[in-house]
Amino acid sequence: MSTSFEPGAPTPEGFIPLCVPEIRGNEWDYVKDCLDKGWVSSIGAFVDRFERMTAEYVGTKYAVATSTGTAALHLALMAARIQPGEEVLVSALTFAAPVNTIRYIGAHPVFMDAEPHTYEMDAEKVVEFLTTACDWQNGALINRATGRRVRAIMPVHILGHPVDIDPILEAAARFDLTVIEDATESLGARYKGRMVGHLGHIACLSYNGNKLITTGGGGMVITDNPALAKRAKYLSTQAKDDPIEYIHEEVGYNYRLTNVQAAIGCAQMEQIDIYIAKKRAIAAHYGQAFADLNGITPMQQADWAESVFWMYTILVDKAIFGMNSRDLMRELQNRGIQSRPLWHPVHSLTPYKNEFAYRVELVDILYRDALSLPCSVGLTDAQQSRVIDTLGELVRVTA
Ligand SMILES: *Cc1c(COP(=O)(O)O)cnc(C)c1O
Repeated sequence: MSTSFEPGAPTPEGFIPLCVPEIRGNEWDYVKDCLDKGWVSSIGAFVDRFERMTAEYVGTKYAVATSTGTAALHLALMAARIQPGEEVLVSALTFAAPVNTIRYIGAHPVFMDAEPHTYEMDAEKVVEFLTTACDWQNGALINRATGRRVRAIMPVHILGHPVDIDPILEAAARFDLTVIEDATESLGARYKGRMVGHLGHIACLSYNGNKLITTGGGGMVITDNPALAKRAKYLSTQAKDDPIEYIHEEVGYNYRLTNVQAAIGCAQMEQIDIYIAKKRAIAAHYGQAFADLNGITPMQQADWAESVFWMYTILVDKAIFGMNSRDLMRELQNRGIQSRPLWHPVHSLTPYKNEFAYRVELVDILYRDALSLPCSVGLTDAQQSRVIDTLGELVRVTA
């Protein structure tokens, strides 16, 4: 099932998609410039500019553009030299991409629980795991249950909201762990005033079609660390040591973004503050409307967070609302409104069910009850009112 309605497909009259791209700035002009000048491939002024704009926006020293967010995560793990057989902590409630990249390098995920108010990785349980379920032996932290070395933590800032990262950063410093932020869903969000993507050692962004800003497909590695940035760039460009003689000292990858995609990215970056303001307005409007709708709990924003509300999500209490999240999804679909559950918890998916999970308890409930609602940047007031009114009509209709 695709995350978003595909533009270009025939749109049923009045259909309200979940989350579609907004293309309304200089995209056409910049792409035309690439085509007119012939700079269509992986080198070009827009790639450099997109990297600079992103680094400036998040506040990191370096940015390396990549073909996808998944490629960015793979590069970040390799740049940080996480080794096969080592472990990386990651939330069980996430899109599977970050977990897959942990397996790409032969490392193992350690699945962590989500906390109930923001659905983000439970920082308290992360610290509890590191301090009570692991042993410090000869300068390495060993997971007592698996006997493997814990090397990194990958907080995934899901749905536009940051993970409560300070306790995680403190524990990481204490046990010499690398913190790789998956910021693919939360570009522009802030944690205690600090930018998401500038909180750990290295971070990754995505410009897939349903993300806050898009290049069609694309990603970025961002960091303050020159060695990590240099290595990410090196591995993303086929680990080429001599471009004339084609000398490669290592196995490399072709993970570059094209200039045409970066051109779209530059135009999108010019609009990012407007997009975020719109996402916040949509969330505020839903929040007000649902405050007294029985059985619907809107997504929360922690005191210390400035969420960008990338994907607006509610919890549906079947006993009170009168139907569960999946029945509600079908009823909305019948009325031309697209909605979608969160991801199946990754720790119980086939490729991952034998990996170690630490006290993962809440994610199954969140998976059962959560439903994301239409929240495209281009959502009109009339469309949003229709979503809200429809939920109001559906509450307890089957009770
Ligand atoms: C979208 C996403 C990715 C991967 O990004 P792609 O650009 O689609 O490869 C990684 N992690 C999370 C949490 C995502 O939502």
